[in-house]
Amino acid sequence: MELPFAESFRIKMVEPIRRSTRQEREAWIKDANYNLFNLKSDYVFIDLLTDSGTGAMSDKQWSEMMIGDESYAGARSYYKLKNAIKDILGFEYFLPTHQGRAAENVLFSALVKEGDVVPGNSHFDTTKGHIEFRKAKAIDCTINEAFETQTHHPFKGNVDIKKLENVLIEYGDKVPFIIMTVTNNNAGGQPVSLENLKQVRVLADKYGKMVIFDSARFAENAYFIKLREESCKELSIKEIVTEMYKNADAMTMSSKKDAIVNMGGFIGMKDEALFKTASTFNIMFEGFITYGGMSGRDMNALAQGLDEGTEFTTLETRIKQVEYLGEKLKEYGVPIQEPIGGHAIFVDAKKFLPNIPKEEYVAQTLAVELYIEGGVRGVEIGTLLADRDPETRLDRFPKLELLRLAIPRRTYTNNHMDYIAASLGNVYSRRNEIKHGMKILSEAPIMRHFTVELDRL
Ligand SMILES: *Cc1c(COP(=O)(O)O)cnc(C)c1O
Repeated sequence: MELPFAESFRIKMVEPIRRSTRQEREAWIKDANYNLFNLKSDYVFIDLLTDSGTGAMSDKQWSEMMIGDESYAGARSYYKLKNAIKDILGFEYFLPTHQGRAAENVLFSALVKEGDVVPGNSHFDTTKGHIEFRKAKAIDCTINEAFETQTHHPFKGNVDIKKLENVLIEYGDKVPFIIMTVTNNNAGGQPVSLENLKQVRVLADKYGKMVIFDSARFAENAYFIKLREESCKELSIKEIVTEMYKNADAMTMSSKKDAIVNMGGFIGMKDEALFKTASTFNIMFEGFITYGGMSGRDMNALAQGLDEGTEFTTLETRIKQVEYLGEKLKEYGVPIQEPIGGHAIFVDAKKFLPNIPKEEYVAQTLAVELYIEGGVRGVEIGTLLADRDPETRLDRFPKLELLRLAIPRRTYTNNHMDYIAASLGNVYSRRNEIKHGMKILSEAPIMRHFTVELDRL
């Protein structure tokens, strides 16, 4: 008999979580103005809001915490992290930041100005926020297949080379760089192929542009390349990562994802002049260049996390758990984005709740229903997140309305996955009774989804 798959870790520390009643949850979510970001975490049984900073560190990472060097300048921890970034990602220069968006803030301060245009594959919300805040424009050039949830394509994160070239031709000097998000978060945690990254490099060289990788889930991307790209089958994850980053001039990183730490980020750069310009902004916004928003102990844990996060067994354990949940959901008939991505399951809310018009925040409605059903907290990736058009101030309706169930790394067991699937299965079986969505009571002018207040219609 072939033995089943089993996790490549065991557990030596646990944190109790509490189940609540439906009645409690109905009151709590109303008090939170139907915004799941407003809930106390104690009111959540299984928290799938994000896989960002919510993973469990390893015994080795915790050991590293004990030997951090907290010197203001030139700490050993800084050099440990510098070496890990050089070895694994190939960047000669780096700046630590407190998280991914801080890396964007620092790097874009050096590179993006008013009127610029930044093409890429479905910019992440903070990335887009930092571009639009500087009165520049983000243009999404992702392949069309990414927006059809039931179409199979091995690399739905890919950029459409033709669309990208058209932007480069049309906007010329207004394009400071191309940004490639690996994996493509907003398109459903979908990977970008190595071939696509190489094609982007060729195009960038043709037009004299820099390529920046938004790298939060670069290791999961490498895992999919290993599984799905014939020429990379025999390569290790670290070898694939090396191949990927040969095509980048710089990277921004949210270390809270694939580097499995609770807080941290960095910028990697190959060009010394860019490093120097960015250093000034780093000192202004984050901290001196050898700590920039991170403690020495955190830089140590991050260096260790980069190593563990790029091990095949770590990635296999994680991604198989995401798949496990996806397969369970399919058994209940729940429509999800396929193929299943790296860090999360994306439920197709428009297919799930066809009775709700797009003006009534379909995916948010589904997120609220799931919370009430089982105390499971997911997140809307839909119209709330897409925000208003900066010029017309009208809602932007994205092609997809998704409920994202992000799975924290090394945190929950497959029994939790069964519970989540059953909760959503229950909502699915009463979907025809859900006829009304939500309306906005108040919202912030930018990145409104974090603080928006809603009411049921
Ligand atoms: C999380 C994330 C960011 C922002 O990082 P934070 O650490 O949350 O500030 C940027 N890009 C992508 C693709 C991400 O997933």
